Amino acid sequence: MNRPLVVGNWKMNGGPAGSLQLARQIVRQLKSQPARADLVLAPPFTSLASVVQALRHSTVKVAAQNSHWAESGAFTGEVSAPMLEEIGCHYVILGHSERRHVFHESCGMIARKLAPVLVHGMRPILCVGETSSERRRKRTLQVVTAQLDSALKGLAKGVIDKVEIAYEPVWAIGTGQNATAEQVDEVHSSIRAYLKSWLGNAKGRVVRILYGGSVKPENASTLAEITEVNGFLVGGASLDAESFLAIARAFSAPAK
Ligand code: PEP
Repeated sequence: MNRPLVVGNWKMNGGPAGSLQLARQIVRQLKSQPARADLVLAPPFTSLASVVQALRHSTVKVAAQNSHWAESGAFTGEVSAPMLEEIGCHYVILGHSERRHVFHESCGMIARKLAPVLVHGMRPILCVGETSSERRRKRTLQVVTAQLDSALKGLAKGVIDKVEIAYEPVWAIGTGQNATAEQVDEVHSSIRAYLKSWLGNAKGRVVRILYGGSVKPENASTLAEITEVNGFLVGGASLDAESFLAIARAFSAPAK
């Protein structure tokens, strides 16, 4: 049984003061009612330091929302893995659909970002997922497999257990329209089969597969019951401490 992982992606919301306040609310509410999941908060870059500070006595960890593949250099506007390690990040979200589709990051660019994150002792949260037109054309599994192949096949098999995978159908992100339990089950089972056939049963089983796309307190329990759902990547609903923790507590049921 993989311990669930629930990540709050705050996207471009909140400066250092607001982020500090939200992180403190989460820590406070967690003390009175703990969650049976690893929790991670991903604030904007400028709020990383204040959130690291707010979480210093807590088990909740911090993620960055992106990183560059180079250690340093002439890359205006970018932030590198060693910088994120130094500030206190433990995770980095890579290949989020907004990076792929709004900022045109290619599979090749995303693939180059994984190894530096691992080298600097952090865990990449690799996002994959199809667009609505790819789903309509029944290309979902093909697209997700190609995204996994491109990002993972360059890594040594020995480090794959440090990678978290998030299945996030592009059409479900920020739309209020989550994927159905059947759709999530099909894609997560296919990702699990892919990992096992490549890494063997034992190693292929330990990689966590998160679901993301309009997860809310109202649908979290149904989605958390799906066998291969090992956590959530939560956008909008993570901006409210109560709803983020209600989602995390969907995993408080007995181990599956
Ligand atoms: C996300 O940003 O990764 C996400 C899943 O957003 P939302 O929960 O708002 O759909």
